[in-house]
Amino acid sequence: GKIVVIGAGILGASTAYHLAKAGADVTLVDRRDRGQATDAAAGIVCPWLSQRRNKAWYQLAKGGASYYPELIRQLEADGETETGYKRVGTLSLHTDPDKLEKMAERARKRREDAPEIGEITILSPEETKRLFPPLSAEYGSVFVSGGARVNGRKMRNALVNAAVKNGSEMLNGNASLNLENGRVAGVSIDGKALQADQVIVTAGAWSNEILKPLGIEFKVTPQKAQIIHLKLPETDTGFWPVVMPPTNQYILAFEDGRVVVGATHEDEAGFDDRITAGGVHEILTKALPIAPGLSEAGLVETRVGFRPFTPGFLPVIGALPDYKNIWVANGLGASGLTSGPYLGAELAKLALGKPTELDLSNYNVAGAIEHKK
Ligand code: FAD
Repeated sequence: GKIVVIGAGILGASTAYHLAKAGADVTLVDRRDRGQATDAAAGIVCPWLSQRRNKAWYQLAKGGASYYPELIRQLEADGETETGYKRVGTLSLHTDPDKLEKMAERARKRREDAPEIGEITILSPEETKRLFPPLSAEYGSVFVSGGARVNGRKMRNALVNAAVKNGSEMLNGNASLNLENGRVAGVSIDGKALQADQVIVTAGAWSNEILKPLGIEFKVTPQKAQIIHLKLPETDTGFWPVVMPPTNQYILAFEDGRVVVGATHEDEAGFDDRITAGGVHEILTKALPIAPGLSEAGLVETRVGFRPFTPGFLPVIGALPDYKNIWVANGLGASGLTSGPYLGAELAKLALGKPTELDLSNYNVAGAIEHKK
């Protein structure tokens, strides 16, 4: 039967791609909201150095990182080569040699069941600066060769294109659920009805309004992020590693001198999609002391995105309770470019009645739902 996927960020695009590849009849719908998280994302794929202790979160992010190389090969086989994915390695900075030793130790522990971490090397300030020249001379680093970056916008487009090549339909518009006798019978897209046997809601931070007509309060909240794109003239930045300073900021580079710095974490901004003076000030004030060489870079653009967070900062995936033909996945938060493609593959398996790789009871949808009847 027909499966409709609402929302074509990284998660919905991956879901539709994997469904289409499995031969399902899929329609993917997207409203192109300003602030799509995928469109603004930095692009770091390096979950192993995180100090977060939640096992379910780590399992998902780790699975996401290790799935990337295989997915990139699949997309290439479908003729999609523009994803901006590259294993450039990651530099985790610190000025304190003891801290660097501890970081390296943690990474080695994690490598025991994540060989994709690759080589782990402690680098002197000189060696660190050689790999990322704009950096201040005071930072040593731990270099992790398996760290990667990806261009969220290109990755999403590659997945959507490959979904269409495999027979999926892509529509633009505002989707809402159509109810018949208390059951979901399909969706309306800008008022036009489309029958569906199953509906998959991957609408990120906007998902609550879609589920509201069912008497459900879906507890996803947008965390606003602003992120700045710079350009270094005549600099070959394509192989520069991702930089993770001791702050909660990051710096990474793409081809043609583009350097991305960010990001803000704004919990009280709602869906305010403005670029603010305070946001830009905060990002540059934190980034420039770490990488003074970026002072001369041109300011290309500032993007705004809404990270979707569900309770406990833990993603959810599964059937909507009481509705066997509606599936949701959400709450990818700050690591959704890493976990999204993999979770989309899992979501496609769920909708097709196939066994999943992850133990999905750790990501129970009920935890994000309140009934309002
Ligand atoms: P989204 O990408 O937000 O997509 C949801 C889509 O649903 C939107 O296109 C919207 O228009 C559509 N939609 C909503 N309602 C409807 C409707 N009714 N009808 C039709 N369409 C609808 N993750 C990492 O792993 N590494 C990073 O370095 C990283 N950096 C980030 C930096 C920033 C600034 C931000 C904002 C996020 C970052 N993330 C990163 C997190 C990652 O971007 C998100 O977790 C992920 O993109 C979420 O994807 P999603 O598909 O769930 O939602």
